[in-house]
Amino acid sequence: MSNRTLAILKPDCVRKNLIGNVIAKINEAGFKIKAMKMTHLTKESAAGFYEIHKHQPWFNDLISYMTSGPCVPIALEKDNAVADFRKLIGATDPSKADEGTIRKLYAKDKTENIVHGSDSDENAAIEISHFFSRKELLENYNN
Ligand code: ADP
Ligand code: MG
Repeated sequence: MSNRTLAILKPDCVRKNLIGNVIAKINEAGFKIKAMKMTHLTKESAAGFYEIHKHQPWFNDLISYMTSGPCVPIALEKDNAVADFRKLIGATDPSKADEGTIRKLYAKDKTENIVHGSDSDENAAIEISHFFSRKELLENYNN
């Protein structure tokens, strides 16, 4: 699993019709798509996914945002996937993100920041299993 990471094209990405632009960037950067779906998170699912942040003052805003419309979780594969994907998306706050990163290009602010990326191999495995069954991942093994 250590060459995998979980991306989520967040509800603002879907609303702004940026799914195609962001996936193009992801593919251009050398990531392979192993599994992908569109899903509208429930409050319970979003709160479970972001449980680590439950004591943050902005937690309720985060859950409202993540449940405001459908999102697109994507399991990605590449050597050094977690770090390389974090580099591709840029800092959490888009005003601090490097030029050319996905958040710098498309994100509005530090809540509505277009895209999620896992922060460690361990969390990538947990996050991928939050959205995809073993069967869904194995079906695409040879793509
Ligand atoms: P990242 O998504 O870059 O890993 P975090 O894990 O720190 O960032 O936070 C998870 C998500 O919570 C962010 O992507 C963003 O949507 C939201 N968020 C983070 N920090 C803030 C903040 N200070 N104010 C509002 N929303 C925030
Ligand atoms: Mg994070």
